[in-house]
Amino acid sequence: MEEQEILKGLKETFKFDSFKSNLQQSAIQEICRRKNDVLVSMPTGSGKSLCYQLPAVLHSDQITIVFSPLLALIKDQIDHLQALRVRAASLNSKTLKAERETLIADLKSKKPLTRLLYITPEQAATHTFKSLFDNLVKFDKVAYIVVDEAHCVSQWGHDFRPDYLKLGELRTNCTVPCIALTATAGADVTKDIIHNLRLTNSLKVFKTSCFRSNLFYDLFYENMLENSYLHLKHFINECLAGDEDVKKEDKGCGIVYCRTREQTEAVSYKLNCLGVKSRCYHAGLKNKERLECQEEWQKGEYPVICATISFGMGVDKATVRFVVHWSVPKDPASFYQESGRAGRDGKPSRCRIYYSRSDSRAIEFHLSHDLAKTKDKESKRIKAETAIKSFKKMVEYCENANACRHKLFTDHFGEPPPPCVDNCDFCKDKKAVQKMVEEFHMKCIEYSSSA
Ligand code: ADP
Ligand code: MG
Ligand code: ZN
Repeated sequence: MEEQEILKGLKETFKFDSFKSNLQQSAIQEICRRKNDVLVSMPTGSGKSLCYQLPAVLHSDQITIVFSPLLALIKDQIDHLQALRVRAASLNSKTLKAERETLIADLKSKKPLTRLLYITPEQAATHTFKSLFDNLVKFDKVAYIVVDEAHCVSQWGHDFRPDYLKLGELRTNCTVPCIALTATAGADVTKDIIHNLRLTNSLKVFKTSCFRSNLFYDLFYENMLENSYLHLKHFINECLAGDEDVKKEDKGCGIVYCRTREQTEAVSYKLNCLGVKSRCYHAGLKNKERLECQEEWQKGEYPVICATISFGMGVDKATVRFVVHWSVPKDPASFYQESGRAGRDGKPSRCRIYYSRSDSRAIEFHLSHDLAKTKDKESKRIKAETAIKSFKKMVEYCENANACRHKLFTDHFGEPPPPCVDNCDFCKDKKAVQKMVEEFHMKCIEYSSSA
């Protein structure tokens, strides 16, 4: 397919002047060739839908079948496409009989008008769908098989959907190119996607690197600071300096993640005493209070929110200048996600852990307690064991800094070493960090022998 034709479709059908990124463009070009299976792994909001919708529209004499996990997601997509005058429909348990009959008649016609057909995985498992699918494939009417939110095929993923596993079977005896899309997934999830969806036709992968060059990572040991609250205050003031003349909602702000409700309250109280306006956020607040707290932070009414990790879902504020972990993050994936809320606007931002060994021991204690409780339940036991292993990686990261801080993430996502020059304390001044680590271990020994 000509590049011109792709650009024309982008403008005329989707009303966009340009691609959102080079990666989006090259993924679309590759998918339009229809030669290979393609895996697109890009963060939420980077425009993955267009990667299959544009090729589906350009490939105008066949149907693209899209598997998507939720009816609500499907409805949004279909409304959006219909507004753009693209023929899109869905076949699911809620489809009305008349609508279903018209749709099936179109699909069975010689030249179907439907461009995109959205299916839930539950529907995909039914006999009706399977015979429809076989029929479409037999008469060569399918342009692409698309699996959106492909991480749902992985047991390692946070929303594993057993019905997604069966999608792999559809691909036996079928050479239609398969397009799988997911938000940046860890190496183990990616492996499951490739295996379970049988992505074999010389698979091409389009993946955003997890390295965030505008984020500076560092770590301090709480037991080595004279006054950790004062230290935190200075850090916050540094991060938020320089936007006195900016509009309230565009001012810099930050998040301090704490482990417990009590911690959020204590940190927020101390910060306020030290002149930093902050509020706390945790599951113990009433829904209304939580919402108000989040909205006011979002509007820039106060800059610092001290929160448990329940805070952040659906938070999309561009001007977060820092994320502090007042307690050790749960695992590398959570740490990446939570600290990654900083610097969404691309401006320099900072991510810091204040590490305390006693806090880390408390978490370890809880995790082994969880494991002990799982005795007979195999799946729960595996989950609890994984949680312990992942947490140990965080402890190792905190207690033995011996590599670039970003390497924790590139390792987790199965990428080559990060191109970090001075984007973390280790790369910036390796000797100083090694000295700090040594002193930390000395202090821990002193403490345990005097205790
Ligand atoms: P994802 O599935 O990766 O989370 P979406 O496909 O939902 O992302 O797209 C996120 C937003 O980006 C949507 O509002 C979409 O309209 C917009 N978008 C996608 N491609 C482009 C583009 N080339 N130019 C401008 N906006 C785009
Ligand atoms: Mg999407
Ligand atoms: Zn580094």
